[in-house]
Amino acid sequence: MHEAVVVGSGVAGLAAAISLGRAGGGPVLVIDRHVSLPPVHKGEFLQPGTLEVLRSWGVADDLGALGALRIEALECRDARGRRLGAFDYSALPHRYNFGLAHYYSEIRDALLKRAQQVADVRFGVRATGVIKGTAGRVTGVVADADGVAERLPARLVVAADGAGSVVRRSVGLDYQRYRYPHGFLGFDLAARGLPPRIVNFLTPQGARILYPLPGGRARLYVQVPVGQVAIARGRDAAAWRRELLDSCPGLGELLDPWPELGVPQAFSSFRGTAATWTVPGLVLIGEAAHSVHPMAGQGMNAAIIDGWSLGMAVQGDLDTAPARYADGRFAQVHRVSHLSNRLARLCTASTPWEHRLVRALLRYNRANRRIQLEATMRIAGLTDERLGPRLLLSLLTPSPAAHGLRTTGR
Ligand SMILES: Cc1cc2nc3c(=O)[nH]c(=O)nc-3n(C[C@H](O)[C@H](O)[C@H](O)COP(=O)(O)OP(=O)(O)OC[C@H]3O[C@@H](n4cnc5c(N)ncnc54)[C@H](O)[C@@H]3O)c2cc1C
Repeated sequence: MHEAVVVGSGVAGLAAAISLGRAGGGPVLVIDRHVSLPPVHKGEFLQPGTLEVLRSWGVADDLGALGALRIEALECRDARGRRLGAFDYSALPHRYNFGLAHYYSEIRDALLKRAQQVADVRFGVRATGVIKGTAGRVTGVVADADGVAERLPARLVVAADGAGSVVRRSVGLDYQRYRYPHGFLGFDLAARGLPPRIVNFLTPQGARILYPLPGGRARLYVQVPVGQVAIARGRDAAAWRRELLDSCPGLGELLDPWPELGVPQAFSSFRGTAATWTVPGLVLIGEAAHSVHPMAGQGMNAAIIDGWSLGMAVQGDLDTAPARYADGRFAQVHRVSHLSNRLARLCTASTPWEHRLVRALLRYNRANRRIQLEATMRIAGLTDERLGPRLLLSLLTPSPAAHGLRTTGR
């Protein structure tokens, strides 16, 4: 019998495995349906607050040794490249007055290395459901390994199996999902000498966001209206070059010489949350519990903090740990979700009136250092205090429900 079985070896599951394994309550098992990590674009940017947690596990130093890039600011520019404003990490009064950018595969491997020191990690094992005890309590996971069904009993099941969580569905927890009216294409490219900033160009066609990455590379995310993602993905490199340089000359100044654009990856953007994150014997974490707009630089960070928080909650009575975890974490994640939705609106504005509003707000932000610092502290994950009414970001949307369409019920 394991103390905990963690379903999913994404960043949430691995963070939970490290945190639970280090708490030393008993053996921890992680299972993942994949044998190797699919080469998908996600999660390049770690916020300062997350680095503080990763530091305590040795992962922040590991990533530094693997060449992770220090990011000093998140910057907004107009299509011509004129600077509109920035969230400046270098002004933060903290040892991590920068974020780190690296490939998701490197971030996940660094977590995996530490998780394997304190937990057993098995790949190619797919959870298909849960085991229930007499009183309806979850007492383990039913899994499939190479066509062979297995029962994995555990005192605690941690569902970290992503937004489409099979475990969540198998216990019937409701999940509300809202789809944003745009998707993204992600291009990997060569780009030397970029400033240590994530630069978001606000263009009439939507966001063009450039992330510097190690090894003289970068990733360019291009916003595309929902419904046009497949067509846009099929466009050839020459057409993309024309479209990007015409709609966003500022990009051409940073990417000079213009790099070769390979075939982009496409993805949609949504946010959502499960109505409740626990049933007896089971807790949902990471995207199995909640997800935010992918371009807000918060989802992977929230997932890692979930795993860490769960380990903290378990340092007491394991049976009451899920409820303690959810009690503490629900309100925090609600605030992250609120913030992410506002950041997403800021970076994906595309209509003229939205641009005027964003420019005015960024001007206000730039002129007020205290407000700028407070907003940056929240984005960095160094405080989760409620956004005050005078903060820039709180002016951006009347409510988090104002953006996105509900698309699914579970
Ligand atoms: C393009 C893109 C860019 C992003 N950039 C950032 C960023 O810069 N910063 C940031 O903070 N966030 C970012 N995000 C969001 C971030 O990637 C996610 O929030 C985060 O990876 C979620 O982690 P997770 O562990 O909860 O879920 P996942 O990463 O989805 O992990 C779930 C794991 O569970 C496994 N699994 C699923 N079903 C089963 C099953 N039945 N049995 C066993 N295993 C199973 C899967 O194989 C997977 O390994 C980005 C997202 C996208 C799409």
